[in-house]
Amino acid sequence: MLFGRGRGNRMKKGKKSKKFEECHLGTKFVFMAKYGAKMIEVYGGGDIRDYDPYKVDVTIALNDVEVPMSNLFVIPSEPKIVYVPIDDMSAPSYPLSFWVDLLDKIVESFPEQDKIRIGIKCTGGHGRTGTVLAIYAWLLKGVDEPIKYVRKRYCENAVETFEQIEYIRDLTGTHEIVDGSKSWSPVVVYTTNDDFDEDWKKWVYFE
Ligand SMILES: [Zn+2]
Repeated sequence: MLFGRGRGNRMKKGKKSKKFEECHLGTKFVFMAKYGAKMIEVYGGGDIRDYDPYKVDVTIALNDVEVPMSNLFVIPSEPKIVYVPIDDMSAPSYPLSFWVDLLDKIVESFPEQDKIRIGIKCTGGHGRTGTVLAIYAWLLKGVDEPIKYVRKRYCENAVETFEQIEYIRDLTGTHEIVDGSKSWSPVVVYTTNDDFDEDWKKWVYFE
């Protein structure tokens, strides 16, 4: 079952290759943490890797898509989905307070439960999902190197672009040195091949 499909979904019909399955699949448990009186379990996944919103209490969907008409009727009931659209391969501009408020709102909406399972998903389950997983790992677990933590606990391909790395670093004040799993920032314009050779290593944090 796929929902939230649209322009950000690079997956074409019938093109589901092994490539999409080799790193991670399903609704993957990443970490748990105490938050006030509640226990929070955080999961991650991607639509093309069989993320299942029924395995969690609420899903934070990061796909940069409009909600298909057929799914509009699903929103008020199960599965519970909060839409926080972010462009594919990009980072959002939300301040840290946004992610704290979002977490608080989710927790408040489950007053009866001691344990709340929160799923975070996008299309591929790496870039945007990895970014938000890293933010919550830092917020909830206080890990010093949230990107490395998420890559170890969840998927080595998590957090794809320089922009996403920068966003996490800025938001959390952590300074871990990592490369993007996929590409460097598209804002850099190179005039010669020499410039490119010298600069690209810097932009993707290859050290
Ligand atoms: Zn993966």
